Amino acid sequence: MEKKEKLYEGKAKIVYATDEKDKVIVYFKDEATAFNAQKKDVIEGKGILNNKISSLFFQLLEKNNIPTHFIKQLSDREMLTYHVKIIPIEVVVRNIATGSIVKRLGISEKTEFNPPLIEFYLKNDALGDPIICYEHIIALNLTTDEDIKIIKDLALRVNKVLREFVEKANIILVDFKLEFGKKEDGTIVVADEISPDTCRFWDKETGERMDKDRFRLNLGDLTKYYEEVLKRIEK
Ligand code: UDP
Repeated sequence: MEKKEKLYEGKAKIVYATDEKDKVIVYFKDEATAFNAQKKDVIEGKGILNNKISSLFFQLLEKNNIPTHFIKQLSDREMLTYHVKIIPIEVVVRNIATGSIVKRLGISEKTEFNPPLIEFYLKNDALGDPIICYEHIIALNLTTDEDIKIIKDLALRVNKVLREFVEKANIILVDFKLEFGKKEDGTIVVADEISPDTCRFWDKETGERMDKDRFRLNLGDLTKYYEEVLKRIEK
């Protein structure tokens, strides 16, 4: 597998072409951003941890027959994935209310959602990823009705698998964001990353935050907690 030209650089990752058209290399950087990139920092080692944790989670999903873009982990900071066309929607699944929804809807912190709540956001940094609903997705031609059904089903299945898995590691899966992509043959797969940058994880015993909220809320020790997540899920 040969690494070729840079195709895309985002806030936390770089995507490179390879000598195989349908495969790309995803490189995890140490950059951290929050609040629509108004808050920025470099946190040494974060990229390595997110690559390892994401790789483990993608393998877990594959084992549970949930299709993903993941092929294999290549190195500390790189994974090999299928080259997919990202559907420009961020899908958030919430089990417990915290973060933006508490402010937006005035509900109490820690309200439980049963069944889990699914939300859609438009993937558009310039607009700050505004929340959208099904009708917007159809009106803006972001994807089809059929695709949305598949995406919702996959998002709920990911939630069930991840939630039960981290629960055994004494971690509560509070909420998370997923992105979906389409492979050349049209299959919809879970793409992007699944890490403490994109999930909220709370320690089941102490309630401590083990995710990017340590950065958002200036709680410190981010890599210490990401390492702890990795240690617990590696077992
Ligand atoms: N999230 C993400 N990227 C985003 C927005 C949200 O990964 O651009 C994740 C976030 O880490 C959390 C969940 O999605 O696990 C829900 O985030 P929320 O809408 O509460 O946003 P925030 O409080 O981060 O503004």
